[in-house]
Amino acid sequence: TCTSTKTTSRKPRLLVSRLYQPSNLRDVGQDSRLSGEMTCKSQRLMHQAGLIHPFSPGCYVYLPATVRSMEKLVRVIDQEMQGIGGQKLDMPSLCSADLWRTSERWDLMGKELFRLKDRHGADYCLGPTHEEAVTTLVAHQATLSYRQLPLLLYQITRKFRDEPKPKFGLLRGREFYMKDMYSFDVQADTGNIGGTLSHEFQLPTDVGEDRLLLCGNCSFSANVETLSSGTTHCPQCKTGALVESKGIEVGHTFYLGKKYSSIFKATFSNPQNKPSVTEMGCYGLGVSRILAAAIEVLSTDEGIRWPGLIAPYQICVLPPKKGSKIEGAAVLAEELVDSLGEDFPHLRGEIVLDDRTQMTIGKRLKDASILGYPYVIVVGEAALQNPPTFEVICQQTAETLFLSKDGLLDLL
Ligand code: ATP
Ligand code: MG
Ligand code: MG
Ligand code: MG
Repeated sequence: TCTSTKTTSRKPRLLVSRLYQPSNLRDVGQDSRLSGEMTCKSQRLMHQAGLIHPFSPGCYVYLPATVRSMEKLVRVIDQEMQGIGGQKLDMPSLCSADLWRTSERWDLMGKELFRLKDRHGADYCLGPTHEEAVTTLVAHQATLSYRQLPLLLYQITRKFRDEPKPKFGLLRGREFYMKDMYSFDVQADTGNIGGTLSHEFQLPTDVGEDRLLLCGNCSFSANVETLSSGTTHCPQCKTGALVESKGIEVGHTFYLGKKYSSIFKATFSNPQNKPSVTEMGCYGLGVSRILAAAIEVLSTDEGIRWPGLIAPYQICVLPPKKGSKIEGAAVLAEELVDSLGEDFPHLRGEIVLDDRTQMTIGKRLKDASILGYPYVIVVGEAALQNPPTFEVICQQTAETLFLSKDGLLDLL
């Protein structure tokens, strides 16, 4: 029953009017659940831009644009982990208390552990981390040989922690994504984690909740928590003065030694064919925290600026306002979206057309600035010239360029 004479073999275009992105672009602060709590830039911008929706304290709906961004981030992490020999698995979040009692962490974790009972009255917790689970898993394999080591197992799953003060949106949730890798080794080499038992990865920024001391003279840095208080001079070079700054803890690696492997009897057969307890390490990355931290550090007060690799969409094309004297350029905008997708396979599914043409270009530009597409292409008056010229706003560098189609292809 298609009445069109044109064959339309094209893929459907991504239209802004159809994206489920319940933005709160103008009414931020009027939401009673949020006004007192809206405390940092990434949280405010992610709420404004329709990236997250607050559900209960420390729990958020990840709206579709955030899921796109998370999937890109997960892809990068998978590549890196698998590049060093990591194998991905997925362990249950619902963890039996028995394991946690065996490691004595059932009591040690205190109120941070989310606890629940099943219908038979057995105790469970929602996993805040998985040392117990992964160690008991590896212990089940009676035939693990030294030839199979190091064994690197990792997962990217939701973790649950009853944080005393969930705040700053995805930066400190009660339910969040973590990449946790666990290594099982023959011998421990603490050299690559600085020769210490644990190593934190901190992103310096003022909203960070961790206080760091950095040496003005050498490369030494430490979390205040790990130094005896009152330390004013660098314990490494002995001369530099320590300067305080703040950071967001985005990753944390630990040398676990035989702490868990001896309790759960995770052994391997050594070259003499005798059972030997494995050495362990764990390597945690706060995946959802990294996403929010990137926004926190890179964005302006007015709009999100993404690391290009994890921007939900790469390009937004703006056709002219309906009824304006250059309305005819609208078709050029559609053609541009289609041809960019054809020329650049990696951009397919990455280009949105802001078809809300009842709105002025200016209003749509403002929204695009909040959402932070790396490239915004305005198809306006200059597009009707010969040859057509497009206004390209590179949001990461705050540059505006006027480019021909070829110039645009070169840029992209
Ligand atoms: P914090 O000091 O911020 O409470 P932590 O030291 O308790 O973090 P780890 O047990 O080291 O956290 O977990 C590994 C990583 O998981 C952290 O480096 C961080 O990036 C992330 N993470 C921890 N707690 C949260 C949380 N509540 N929300 C989001 N990410 C978190
Ligand atoms: Mg903590
Ligand atoms: Mg910490
Ligand atoms: Mg930590």
